[in-house]
Amino acid sequence: MKTYLKDDTVSIDGLSHQMFFACMTIRDALSFFDIDFVITSGSEKEARHMVGSKHYSGEAIDFRSRDFDNHSDKLMFLSMVKHRLGCDYDLVLEETHFHCEHDPKEAR
Ligand SMILES: [Zn+2]
Repeated sequence: MKTYLKDDTVSIDGLSHQMFFACMTIRDALSFFDIDFVITSGSEKEARHMVGSKHYSGEAIDFRSRDFDNHSDKLMFLSMVKHRLGCDYDLVLEETHFHCEHDPKEAR
């Protein structure tokens, strides 16, 4: 399997070290399915995300979901990664991609 940015419009400049940790975890889980880790959006300023999106501060990435064989593998992958990253990260299956962000929760 390979890890790469979708094309040269995608930037991971300024990605937080917490997100690099998330990327290693995601890569490891994808390797279980023998699926390439293709980052489709990082911190690039040109990308269209919601105002205030964590992408712009280097706290979020999107990556390709279409290479999974079926939906249940996607759900298995989601639970694997969520379990490993813990509650300070959010991982969401969007319509066309996975979105992962570092979202530390308040300690109680
Ligand atoms: Zn995103």
